[in-house]
This record gives sequence, C-alpha cells and structure tokens, in this order.
Amino acid sequence: MKEKTIVLSMDAMVGADIAYLKTKPNFSRLFKDRCEIGKVCTIYPSITYPAHMSIMTGCRPGKHGVITNLQFAVDKGYPAWHIDSSILQVEDIFAAAKRQGMTTGSIYWPICGNNPNIDYLINEFFFYENEPVEEAFAAMGANEATLEIVRENMHRFPTAFEQVEERLELNNSFDDFIMGCMCSMIRKNQPDLLLVHNCWLDDLRHRNGVFNQFVTDGLDQTDEWLGQVIAALEDAGTYENTNFVLLSDHGQMDYSRRIKINLLLRRGGFIDVDENGKITDWRALAQSNGMSATIFLKDPADKALAEEVRAYLQGLADQMVWGFLQVQSEEEVRERYGMYGDFAFMVETDGYTSFSDDWNEPVLKQMDMSDSHRLGAATHGYHPEYGPQPVFVARGSGFKSGVYIENASVIDEAPTIARMFGDSMPQAEGRVMAELLADGR
Ligand SMILES: [Zn+2]
Repeated sequence: MKEKTIVLSMDAMVGADIAYLKTKPNFSRLFKDRCEIGKVCTIYPSITYPAHMSIMTGCRPGKHGVITNLQFAVDKGYPAWHIDSSILQVEDIFAAAKRQGMTTGSIYWPICGNNPNIDYLINEFFFYENEPVEEAFAAMGANEATLEIVRENMHRFPTAFEQVEERLELNNSFDDFIMGCMCSMIRKNQPDLLLVHNCWLDDLRHRNGVFNQFVTDGLDQTDEWLGQVIAALEDAGTYENTNFVLLSDHGQMDYSRRIKINLLLRRGGFIDVDENGKITDWRALAQSNGMSATIFLKDPADKALAEEVRAYLQGLADQMVWGFLQVQSEEEVRERYGMYGDFAFMVETDGYTSFSDDWNEPVLKQMDMSDSHRLGAATHGYHPEYGPQPVFVARGSGFKSGVYIENASVIDEAPTIARMFGDSMPQAEGRVMAELLADGR
C-alpha cells in the first residue's frame, strides 16, 4: 500500500507542550517511535501566515512573498487575511507531491485558496455571521467531494460567533470542525499528502497568556483530537503506513501593554485624520505583527520621506518609552532574516509591548479582545530567537525512530518531507534534515 504523509500544524505549540503531551495516552501511542527536534526556529516576523508559507515552501518570507498576515489596506473595517495562493512566489510542497503522482489535501492551511495542486481543499477562512459556508469554500477551490466532507461535519461548525473571554468552547470554534473534516478526509479520500492547521492553542494563549490552566486544558483537548485521528487512520487501514508530522509555526510571549503605533506616526505628521478620526491621507503607515510592526511608505521610492520617517522613529526609540528600542531598515532584516518586500522599516518590541494598528488617542490601547489576533495577554511577531520555540515531532516508516536534533529551522521542514516522499524542492532555502529520515530516503 502507498505510503501516506500527514502534517498537522498546532498553531503556537511549544516545546513544553510536547513534554506534557508525552504524559497523555493518544500522543504517547501515536508517537511511541518518533524523531524529534527540540527547538525549531521560525521566521521574522514570527506570525502565522508568513510562517506557514515558510513551512510549506522551505523559503523565508522575502523569497516566498508573504510578509504579513493581512492584505494591506488603509482604515479597513475587518481583518482581511490573505486567501488566494497566487500570492506565493515559489513552489510549495503540494507541487512536489504532484510530481510524484500523489493525491493531496489541505484543511485550514493558510493561503491555499485555489491552489491548483490540492485535490481536496478546505481553505482557511474565518466566517462572519450569515456568510454561506459551502459557497465560500467552493469559491476558494473546494470540489464536490470536499464539500461532502464539509457537509458531513457541519454539526461541528461554530454555532456562535461571540467572543468568550478566556475559556474556549468547542462549539464556538473552527478547530473542532477542522478536526472533524480531517478525520472524514482520512476515512473517505485518503490523500497521500494532507496538511492541516489548528489554532486552538494559539487562541488560548492570546487570551490567557503562554502557560496557564486554560492552555493545559487545551493540550488535553489536543490529545483527544489525536485519539480521533488515530481512530480514523485505523478505520482507513492506513495507521501503519502513515508518516505523521506534528509541528508548529511560532511560540508566544506574554506582554504587558499595547501601544498604538499608527498614532505615533500620526503625531509625527505622517497620517492625516478628519474630525471623525478617519484617515484622509498618509505618507507612512504601520501594520502590526503583534510584537513587531512593519512600516510602509505611500511612495516607497521617496528617499527623503524614508529618511524623515527613520529619523522620527529613531528619536522615539531613543526615548525608550514607546515600546521599541530599534528601527530596522528593510536592508537590515533582509540581511539578517531573509525578510524583504515593499516596506521601509520594522520596529521590534522592547520585550513587553505589543503594537496596535489604531491611530486615534490615547496612545495605550486597552488589553482586551478587540484587536483581532493581537489580542489579550500574549502574542508573537518578535524576533524568532526569543521566547519558547515551535516544535517538530514525526513518526512513520519514512523517519528514523529515536533521533533527536536540538535545533533546526521551519524552512528545513518542507525539503525534508519532500525528500521523504522522493522529491526535492530546488527553490527551498532550508536544508534536508537527512539525519531524521529512514535509510535510503
Ligand atoms: Zn500561528
């Protein structure tokens, strides 16, 4: 029987979580024979969408082309997450799988909308109330067989969209629906390569902080989901010949205040606002990544403006009270992190400040759930060297059991997995971690 490969990304899972999961029954069973990486360094900025593109292409953000979570927009009314895969500038792991004649599936993996190399595609999409579910998934590339999976799991789709402060409830989250779809797809379609993305732990950490009882409960839930996946693999008869990778995209760090970065730019004269607080014009605008922010210029070619913005931000950094201590140029982050694009600067947290996109007084933003995905008590976006690190655990006949590597990078993952199923990813910047692979791979 043909070997299968499943990659499950548990967003914001960190090393300490794996230590806890080793005490749980389903994780212990699934990963009894495993290889493991202690710390997987992510990319800069350490945020979900650029990181997942790095995981699936082996390239850093500058090269793969996704440098932010959200599409750039001035004064947007709601978070406009990147959706369509055409933004990607390099080949992804689905293309490599297709070269090997494999069937492919993806559930809530970011920015896979209309990816031509995915056979069973449920793109990541966060619905607002009353949006038609099947139509939305179909518009992003779900075929009839995939919509059947969606229909089969609608009883696990969120029933309420209002925010719950700390606790999460399964019926108020996309993650339970995602795991239901994963089990159905394993049973029915059995794709040779399946990538799945689950945000349960990330959400709990944003709301409550990096380590607490809510997160521990989330890990218990994660183990229950792994039990459901094991049952699906057994029903499909593919448990033994499935290579299973559990990984994550970034960690998180607690923060203690949130500063409105665009208000600082407004005070410097770079953003104009009318009497209702609406932006009427701008010369420099920031997009927050949580604990860093990316500064865009309206005219990227305007060297005098760039110098003016740099001098202004550096002046603030030197005062050491505005949440950032350094102003990094595009050249600096290109050199250090392979992060480049149509922005001018990045500011990096002082270690306890998160940034809000808002531009209206006062300068401190309430630490509540109102700022989508930079919310609550902990977040990420900072330099990838900091904080608890993401994970990689793998089992199956394609991997060598008992191997432990201390350090690697998220860009090493795609070329390693592709090598395991017999292909290569020539555009990848990461290395093949041959020491994790079974002999002859
Ligand atoms: Zn994430």
